[in-house]
Amino acid sequence: MLTAVVGINWGDEGKGRMVDLLSAQYDIVARYQGGNNAGHTVVNERGKFILNLLPSGILRPETVNVMGTGMVIDLEHLTHEIASLREKGIEITPAHLKISDKATICMPYHKLLDGLEEDRLADRKFGSTRRGIAPVYADKYMKKTLRMADLLHPETLREKLEQLLEWKNLTVVNGYKHEPILVEDMLAWLETYGLPLADFICDTGIYLNREIDAGKNMMFEAQLGALRDIDFGIYPYTSSSSTIAAYAPIGAGIPGRKLDRVIGIMKAYSSCVGEGPFVCEFFGAQAEALRAAGGEYGAATGRPRRVGGFDVVASRYGVQMQGATDIAVTKLDILSGLEKIPVCTHYELDGKQIDFFPTGDALNRAKPVYEYLPGFSGDITGCRKFSQLPQAAQDYVRYLEQAVNCPISYISVGADREEYIEM
Ligand code: GDP
Repeated sequence: MLTAVVGINWGDEGKGRMVDLLSAQYDIVARYQGGNNAGHTVVNERGKFILNLLPSGILRPETVNVMGTGMVIDLEHLTHEIASLREKGIEITPAHLKISDKATICMPYHKLLDGLEEDRLADRKFGSTRRGIAPVYADKYMKKTLRMADLLHPETLREKLEQLLEWKNLTVVNGYKHEPILVEDMLAWLETYGLPLADFICDTGIYLNREIDAGKNMMFEAQLGALRDIDFGIYPYTSSSSTIAAYAPIGAGIPGRKLDRVIGIMKAYSSCVGEGPFVCEFFGAQAEALRAAGGEYGAATGRPRRVGGFDVVASRYGVQMQGATDIAVTKLDILSGLEKIPVCTHYELDGKQIDFFPTGDALNRAKPVYEYLPGFSGDITGCRKFSQLPQAAQDYVRYLEQAVNCPISYISVGADREEYIEM
């Protein structure tokens, strides 16, 4: 069974929590895109964990975790993330963490360039997390950066770095008027943070194909949602990689395999980090109340997230782009106490109601059309059966199912591992 667990919205749908829950059923969990620009928060009996790079299955000792070919890896960040988990008693060995030899290394100068460009843009900035993600993906496609396999040949690192930096310093020095990046510094960084990871590096394609042929179950874990996909998201306010499920086998290292199931994680309301069009957005007191109730602050950056009611137009598009076979709705408990539940059912574009997700300037001009469904109250975090939910909560879930045209299999009613309902 090959299952992808992916975001339907703008990211931060609670994927980390669902992957942590679902990963019990899978032998292998793989990340297939992105870097440490987003965070998963997982709360379980061992504590609260923020995972930026490591797959969420890392918290289960019996699960093998793969960092796939499509990822960009900041070695320093990964080293610290591994150390902080080890401090909390999580064992991390090459037996249960495997890093693709084809994954791209995110260098300190990628981070530097990310910051220099955001500074240059000043008030026109994109809201980059300044973790170097766009610059490193750009270099990947320029075919001018190092991959994990290069760490297995330390004797050639200096020569490779010399060539890369000769090119990169043209931009750093002449473009941004910054001090040149020194080969010695980058070599030292790779030796400190890269070489000790050598035992984790392997051909994840060979490993995964062998294990899948042997009947192992595998889960692909996305970072960021459909609306952040480089091609299908709210470009240019997207991530720099393919976040959608269709890319999962490619980004994990097994492009010839097909997914059996795509579980879309969809939040009971909307949230969005950073800049860009967010049609259903709330402002003022309405936004503050929802943000506080949902704890909507970025896991990687601590930035307050923009929030809004459930967006039918965007979510239906997200479900389609992901090819979701079923849905997990998260954070239903956060809506408890609202007299009426706001739902953005349509967009208004140039005086007309539309039900498709527009692109570019049309998306920027779109206005939300809100309707209200009856609210529910009381603590629902203890509900374990659908029938235990207040009637209005049940009706809301059924409404969502119809609205995005996809069956709902799970409802998360709290942050803890067991606080969910399976339909
Ligand atoms: P991710 O990147 O998609 O994993 O999303 P976040 O990092 O934003 O994590 C979502 C946050 O909401 C975390 O703090 C989770 O523990 C929490 N969370 C997830 N699902 C639920 C839920 O159903 N109810 C509540 N109250 N919190 C949840």
